Amino acid sequence: MAETTVELAGFSGMLMRPGDAGYDEARQVFNAMIDRSPAVIARCSSTADVSAAVRYARAHDLAVSVYGGGHGVTGAAVVDGGVCIDLRGMKGVSVDPSARTVRADGGLTWGELDGATQEHGLAVTGGRVSSTGIGGLALGSGSGWLERKLGFTCDNLLEAEVVTATGDVVTASDTENPELFWALRGGGGNFGIVTRFTLRLHQVGPIVLGGMLMYPAFMGHELVRFWRDFMLKAPDEVGSGLAFLTAPHEDFVPEPVRGHPVIGVILLYAGDVEEGQKALAPMLEFGPPGMSMVQPMPYVALQQMIDPGNQKGFLNYWSGDFFTELPDEAVDTLVDLATQPVSPLTQMILVAGGGAVARVDDNATAFGNRDAPWNMHYLSMWVDPADTQTNIDYTKRLCGAMKPWTTGHVYLNFIGDEGAGRVEAAFGPEKFARLQRIKAQWDPQNVFCHNQNIPPGASEVVVPQPR
Ligand SMILES: Cc1cc2nc3c(=O)[nH]c(=O)nc-3n(C[C@H](O)[C@H](O)[C@H](O)COP(=O)(O)OP(=O)(O)OC[C@H]3O[C@@H](n4cnc5c(N)ncnc54)[C@H](O)[C@@H]3O)c2cc1C
Repeated sequence: MAETTVELAGFSGMLMRPGDAGYDEARQVFNAMIDRSPAVIARCSSTADVSAAVRYARAHDLAVSVYGGGHGVTGAAVVDGGVCIDLRGMKGVSVDPSARTVRADGGLTWGELDGATQEHGLAVTGGRVSSTGIGGLALGSGSGWLERKLGFTCDNLLEAEVVTATGDVVTASDTENPELFWALRGGGGNFGIVTRFTLRLHQVGPIVLGGMLMYPAFMGHELVRFWRDFMLKAPDEVGSGLAFLTAPHEDFVPEPVRGHPVIGVILLYAGDVEEGQKALAPMLEFGPPGMSMVQPMPYVALQQMIDPGNQKGFLNYWSGDFFTELPDEAVDTLVDLATQPVSPLTQMILVAGGGAVARVDDNATAFGNRDAPWNMHYLSMWVDPADTQTNIDYTKRLCGAMKPWTTGHVYLNFIGDEGAGRVEAAFGPEKFARLQRIKAQWDPQNVFCHNQNIPPGASEVVVPQPR
């Protein structure tokens, strides 16, 4: 390996090497299964720093990883012995309320971006846990509670500032480098480092009707059937998901259900609160929930609602699948297994899609599979390494049991290290081939390979347009 003690030319951020103060904290990611030691963590403070770090890594033949929010389950944000290009020093955000746009630096989290846009009563579809990075989530397309009304995050991307594999800075939009722009909308971090996202905003809140209903597991079969039918008819304003979890030992939870498997129905109405009461009424009136927390609340509070159960530092194993339909047999299989978790930290999440997501032309972005209304995130979490195999086996058993109803497509942001076939399954063969061609143009050496990787395909002439 090349020496990394040389200073980075033109770099004005912070460099952390093994033994330096802050290094061990900075290399940690959300998933505690990952324990990697980069040769250097380059915490960038500007786009110029990102360029300098890319050029340095390439000149010294060092592997490159990009750290956005560090939430990716595979731990791709950090690489052993390489250069971790850390965007957490880049937190600039500028809202233009009259144009309804935001320019957001790549190191922001969703909590930080939502906070800035909500000062103007504006929002864009964002992550369901506020500590998630905007970068990884948006580039993987970006599913959130507002998606049925506003589309995915990537459907609202207007422009991206990108540091390429050569360290050059380019703009991608509908009019500049449009193929690159197409790839950035769902293709993950394969094509460059996005240092700034310009996103379209929409009027949301600041007070919205939303929250969680919590039901005991024994009501699961009837509840999930009812929720499925409710969501198939719900207006676009209704965002919702089911969370199979274990009720926490907290005062706000009724004593009899604490520590027991429960099913949470998460609801958000992206519109007028009174209209929301009418739209959500059928779901709110379904049986008596063990607990109802659905009420008018700040949108930012709703965006942080499931934060407490999703803290950095647990051991994680994830997978995901789309379903086109959820017949009763699928519901029964899901409820039977998901209400018997082997870890009280595990959260199996089923998100209802459709609406605005399904109305975008399938060829408009790299993300595909827009017509599958159900997106399943198998999210197992536990604490004791001795329980690792039991948890992985359990997750695989649940995924396997649900296979008869999967579309064969997956959501890039929800899968783990599952092999090249599963990455291709996020796009389908035609889109994957197009992404490989774009990769060959912009990153023929696969410098950005620590991600859900799309290897370069047949090479084409490289015509980057540096600014
Ligand atoms: C608790 C939890 C809840 C989640 N909820 C949702 C959800 O509601 N919807 C959803 O869609 N996903 C969700 N995810 C998945 C999440 O979107 C992905 O894990 C995403 O990759 C995280 O992005 P990050 O920047 O935080 O992670 P990182 O680990 O830092 O990055 C993930 C990948 O993206 C690359 N990357 C990050 N930023 C950039 C950038 N600016 N330019 C180029 N490449 C970059 C990294 O190199 C890495 O390969 C959730 C994850 C967790 C842990």
